[in-house]
Formats: sequence, structure tokens, C-alpha cells
Amino acid sequence: MSRRIWAVLQHRDGKLHRMSWEAVAAAQELAGRLGGRVEAFLLGNGIEALAREVAAHELAAVRVADDPALADYTPGGYVAALAPVLRAEQPDLVLFPHTYQSVEYVARLAQASGAGLLPEAVGFELVDEQLIWKRPIFGGKLHARVRAKGAGPLLVSLQSAAFSADGLRAGAAPVQKLAVEIGADDAGREILGVEQAGGEQVDLTKADVIVAVGRGVGGADKMAPIEELAALLGAELGASRPVIDSGWLPRDRQIGSSGQTVAPKLYLALGISGAIQHLVGMKGSSVIVAVNKDGGAPIFKVANYGVVGDLHEVVPALVQAIGELRS
Ligand SMILES: Cc1cc2nc3c(=O)[nH]c(=O)nc-3n(C[C@H](O)[C@H](O)[C@H](O)COP(=O)(O)OP(=O)(O)OC[C@H]3O[C@@H](n4cnc5c(N)ncnc54)[C@H](O)[C@@H]3O)c2cc1C
Repeated sequence: MSRRIWAVLQHRDGKLHRMSWEAVAAAQELAGRLGGRVEAFLLGNGIEALAREVAAHELAAVRVADDPALADYTPGGYVAALAPVLRAEQPDLVLFPHTYQSVEYVARLAQASGAGLLPEAVGFELVDEQLIWKRPIFGGKLHARVRAKGAGPLLVSLQSAAFSADGLRAGAAPVQKLAVEIGADDAGREILGVEQAGGEQVDLTKADVIVAVGRGVGGADKMAPIEELAALLGAELGASRPVIDSGWLPRDRQIGSSGQTVAPKLYLALGISGAIQHLVGMKGSSVIVAVNKDGGAPIFKVANYGVVGDLHEVVPALVQAIGELRS
């Protein structure tokens, strides 16, 4: 049976989100394995150039909802644009990048269109012609293998870097207008402006050594020994998202799917559990050393060296040992 596979793409300021290409690549891979056709969806206003860029790939069509009501992303506007076409056309699979944006509106879209929802997929396999998805559970400690039951569309959000955009197949797809009707109240909010938080003042991508801290550090007041260790190693400080959200370090230190992607020679992960959103930003490091109290923490799966212990004991011991070696 030929499947209809859609990929709904995310963009901002005239640029497609990196993960949009990963969603297109995943859709092409699924179509190749299952048999089917891929349509890409773009929502926005004044997005002809983006549509042309997407159309240069092997797709059955690029379907474009170009409407002033979609000039700014709002969950209500996106649901109002996509739910009717989903209900009317009943595609088999609809893929989204797993981002803050899709986390916000895709569950609402599933509810509004009667579709199934499978968030945060990191892969798929075909077993006896059944499509089985893989997704992390319990903070990435386990992977669940999930099969969708019942009929109707399945909305799937794809975790960052789960699919590579390297194998994207080029082509020449037709661009088709998607008629939408978005009511004045659908957006549910008025966007007054968009501000860049912090900016990327520190370019961690160039660092050879990174000492990264996670929630396990326990607070901004506990950072002094870690800063001392970083200074001794000539390292930049990095962090997981909770550290940034708690205000313990500035936003430009965040590493992961919504932060910077780094590949230093040495990455020291202190009190970081190793959630997939963090791993995608650092797993390309040459040597990873993890310190964590929990021997079952997923960070140990990617670490070359691991210390199961309290970072507040391990870090001062490291500082002392490096000091002794140098003197
Ligand atoms: C759309 C989206 C985007 C995201 N983007 C990012 C991103 O870019 N980057 C990112 O990092 N996260 C991101 N996240 C969040 C991510 O899912 C995790 O919640 C986050 O990475 C967990 O951070 P953590 O490991 O510091 O905290 P936790 O998961 O709470 O882990 C803390 C760890 O510290 C250990 N610990 C506690 N005390 C000590 C001690 N004294 N000594 C040693 N170990 C100790 C614990 O055993 C635990 O393993 C994103 C999430 C979503 C939904």
C-alpha cells in the first residue's frame, strides 16, 4: 500500500530550522522503505523563497499555506491551518521536528484532528511489515519500542539528530498553494515582538576542552571548584538546560538540541544525566568523562571514562591532583 507521508517544516527569519531537513530526510527514508510519497508543508507569510528551496528535493509536492495570519507562529494559528487538511486527507504519517514549537502545538493538533501522537521518536524499524518506532523513556534510561494501533494519521515528532540530513535526495517538486481559513480569534495570542535571549557571545564550538555542569551541581553558589577546574584545564564552561533555566550560568553556555553543538577534544560532564537533548549537542566530543552519583545515568553510555561519585568530592580531588602533577 502506498503511504502518504507529510513533513511539516519549521522556519524563522527566512531560514529553515536544521531539524526541518532531518524531518524531510526521515520522510524520504520512510517512503523508500514503506513505499509512499512525501509532501512537505510550510506555513508562514511571504515564504515563496523557502518553498523554492524545499522544492529542490525529491518530494511529491511542497504545500504552502501563505497567509498574513501565519506571519508569526502561534499554536492556535498552526492548528487552525493544519487540522482541517489533516481531517480531510487522512495522511498515514505526519512528521515534525521535536522542538519547543512542536511540543507546544502538535498535541493540540492531534486532539483537534483526531490523529494519534507519538512524540520524540529517535528511530524506526520494520518488523513483519509493521512500523515500530523507538523513543526514549525515563529520561533516556530506556528506549520504548512503540507500534501505533488503530487507523488514521499518526503525528510523530523526531528528536534532534535522530535522522541525518546528509542523505537528503534532490529533485524538483511542484509548489502547491494550501488554502487556509484562520479566524481572528484562532491565534489565541498577539505576538508583540520577538527578542533574542542573550545571543551567542561565547562560541563553545571552538573550545578544545569543555567542563560542563548539570543540575547535579546543585546551585550557582557551588560553582567555584568547577570554575577552578576549568581554569586549570584551560576549558570553557558549558551546561545543560536546567542550569541555564535556573540562571546558574548564562544562556550562551547551553549545550544540546536547543543550545550549541560542540565537539571538543575533552568534554567533562559533571552532574549531567545524559538526556537525549543534551547528548545530541556533545556526543561528537573526542573524549567524554562523566561524573555522576547514579551509575545507571545514560551519560555513561557515551562516556569514555566514568566516575560514579559525588562531583563535590571528585572535582576538588581532580583540582588537587592536577595541581600536584603540575608542581
Ligand atoms: C524541546 C526540548 C529541548 C531541550 N534542549 C535541551 C538542551 O539544549 N540541552 C539540555 O541539556 N537539555 C535540553 N532539554 C532538557 C533535557 O530533556 C533534560 O531535561 C536536561 O538535559 C537534563 O539536564 P541535567 O542532566 O542537568 O539534569 P537531570 O536530568 O536532573 O540530571 C541531573 C544528574 O545529576 C546527577 N547528580 C545529582 N547530584 C549529583 C552530585 N552531587 N554529584 C554527581 N552527580 C549528581 C543525578 O544523578 C542526575 O543524573 C530540552 C528538552 C526539551 C523538551
